[in-house]
Amino acid sequence: MELESLPNDVIAQIEVRDRWRRATAASGLEFLITDIGKWPLGKTVRVAFLDGDDQLHADIAGATKQITDACNLTLDFGQNGGGTFRRWTEADTVLAAEIRVSFDLPGFFSLVGTDSTDSVIGAGGGPVGGNPDQRSLNLGQFAEDRPVKWEGTVRHEFLHALGFHHSHQNMRGTCEGEFRWEDEAGYVPTQDGDGVFVADAQGRLPGIYTFLAGEPNNWPRAMVDHNLRTVDAPDLVAGPFDTKSVMLYRFPAFFYKSTPSSCAPTGNGQNLSDGDKRGLDLLYPHTTEGVADRQARADAVLQSLGAGPEGVPGSNGGGLAEAYRTRVEELATAQAASAG
Ligand SMILES: [Zn+2]
Repeated sequence: MELESLPNDVIAQIEVRDRWRRATAASGLEFLITDIGKWPLGKTVRVAFLDGDDQLHADIAGATKQITDACNLTLDFGQNGGGTFRRWTEADTVLAAEIRVSFDLPGFFSLVGTDSTDSVIGAGGGPVGGNPDQRSLNLGQFAEDRPVKWEGTVRHEFLHALGFHHSHQNMRGTCEGEFRWEDEAGYVPTQDGDGVFVADAQGRLPGIYTFLAGEPNNWPRAMVDHNLRTVDAPDLVAGPFDTKSVMLYRFPAFFYKSTPSSCAPTGNGQNLSDGDKRGLDLLYPHTTEGVADRQARADAVLQSLGAGPEGVPGSNGGGLAEAYRTRVEELATAQAASAG
């Protein structure tokens, strides 16, 4: 089982930013979607591909239709009459698209919402980030060998790209308490021939931290926390915990404390759940009332963060983006000073 894997430097930048948001905001919260990381309403969000062929691009565009059918947002794949799709390159200096898809890195991942065009994310110059020459969404090995439920994977990653977080990180859910984080008492670290942590000679099981530290994930604890721990932040809007969501990870049974677990998925992992669709409609509503609600939530978040009004449509976060950019730079300077 291989999980999603954003590069460590990218995670570090996102966490600095999120810590700041959490520390700055007064309170208030609540689908795990991000109100300040959403795209402007009615916006056409462009998608471009680094590699892969026309058929693969067409299939991916087709799989995302379930998403755009459920919300007031258009994904523009730049398809022309000849059946070819928009492309980006690692030499780009101007954004070819807001969502920059690749198939060449291992694993699946996506930046969340407008992080895809945030130049602070990936500022170190790695392969992933918010800059024109960086990937924002990766579907590893799709060009050679797609997973069985590849449509579900595409939808999961594109929901991230539109501002969705993982359902198991919904603080209204039971996953934090249901995940078996630590090894069973007395567990002797035991790996199979592939480097996967398995039960020891006495049948004691590894916990999540140990299991994910082995092959094929090799995750440090911080990565496990980033991907699995409950998220509680002022800009998050959470619906009821939804076990049918495509945003809920599918784990082996030993990840959970009870069987069956209240945190285990009940959907088919392919289609958007009704809850996913409700979340999309909250973020990208069609009705006047929905639009007013969305604006009120965003204003409340921005106010609690001490930032100015929401950015001008088309810009990236407006005053808030500026505020945290400054803060991230301050933190980096302070870190360098204390290290030096
Ligand atoms: Zn994910």
